[in-house]
Amino acid sequence: NINVYRFTADEFLVVYAGIDEISKFYSLGEKIISIFDNERISVSGGFSVFPDNSKESNELINFADLAMHNAKKAGKHQLMMFTQEMQSKFLRSEMLKSKMPTAFTKGEFELFFQPQFDISSSKLRGFEALLRWNESVEGLIGPDEFIPLAEENNFILILGEWVLKKAFECQKKWEQKFNFDGIMSINVSPIQLMKEDFVQKLSSLSTECNVNPSNIEIEVTEGIFINETEKAAEILREIKKLGFGISLDDFGTGYSNLKYLQMLPLTTLKIDKSFIPSDSEDSQKDKACIMFENIARLAGEFGVMVVAEGVETEQQYDYLTQMGCDIIQGYYFDKPLTEDMFLEKIKAGKY
Ligand code: C2E
Ligand code: CA
Ligand code: CA
Repeated sequence: NINVYRFTADEFLVVYAGIDEISKFYSLGEKIISIFDNERISVSGGFSVFPDNSKESNELINFADLAMHNAKKAGKHQLMMFTQEMQSKFLRSEMLKSKMPTAFTKGEFELFFQPQFDISSSKLRGFEALLRWNESVEGLIGPDEFIPLAEENNFILILGEWVLKKAFECQKKWEQKFNFDGIMSINVSPIQLMKEDFVQKLSSLSTECNVNPSNIEIEVTEGIFINETEKAAEILREIKKLGFGISLDDFGTGYSNLKYLQMLPLTTLKIDKSFIPSDSEDSQKDKACIMFENIARLAGEFGVMVVAEGVETEQQYDYLTQMGCDIIQGYYFDKPLTEDMFLEKIKAGKY
């Protein structure tokens, strides 16, 4: 007994009554998906079960909707069943999202700085600025959790601007205090970068803070090129023209199009930690070595510096040195530090 209803413009509700096995939902869902396959239309579906998930029709629909959104996020064109875990995750996300604005005004966000080392000079090259949230009840929340949420509700625009300003201020302060002349790398979210006033804001903030753009590197991920390749490339060219460096982050995790080296005004390529072999896996190591070495060589030919991140051991460091990597970042040298921790280390003569 199946009834189909049109729910919104492109959402349909299927009520499937009188079935005894979950597998039947899946086979029905798969049948529906395969019909659209022939038309090359991508469909995502979610389902919830009466009375297991709820006895309330509204709630059942909401749960199925949530499952459908999870299916979309997981890469579309698939079917997912509602789970309690989905619900808890959703509630936590909503809670964190709603707390962000107050947390921001209360000063709960903080910038950490992770040192980067230049191999050839064996000196500090600079820092990557990394955001943290010291939530009053939850404790420390990592950026991997809250940045995607801030991107969903556009709060990333406010956070991102604050990060730029804070990083610029530190750069300036350290320059005045102890002639720091290194690079400050700043992560910029695709949403922030593609906003029409980003370049103008970047430029006016750097003037306001009196920092030299050549001491600043903007880190972007290749996510920005998926939909609007030419527009993103144009924005990067404008940023480069202003004198800022540009780093392509997490290289190797996505499409990793080598064409980026040719078409984008990159100064630095950050090869993702998954390309750095761990000390144990030997057969994997050979493959990772070949990839790393070739990417590094190619980057070198384009005049792009190679940063290896997530370097944790001396073996990895030695290996990366042999592979022609220019810059190293990772726990092997230092964890991300608060400003105070960094100043302590300076005092102690570590840097
Ligand atoms: P990412 O840009 O790839 O940053 C590197 C991540 O690796 C950081 O995680 C860093 O703490 C971690 N890491 C550094 N050294 C090591 C190591 O030796 N081993 C291991 N296992 N990990 C290491 P973190 O700070 O949790 O940041 C996670 C991600 O959040 C960042 O990844 C970045 O994508 C994003 N993020 C951080 N701050 C900002 C920000 O201000 N704006 C935006 N848009 N994104 C940010
Ligand atoms: Ca980064
Ligand atoms: Ca990275």
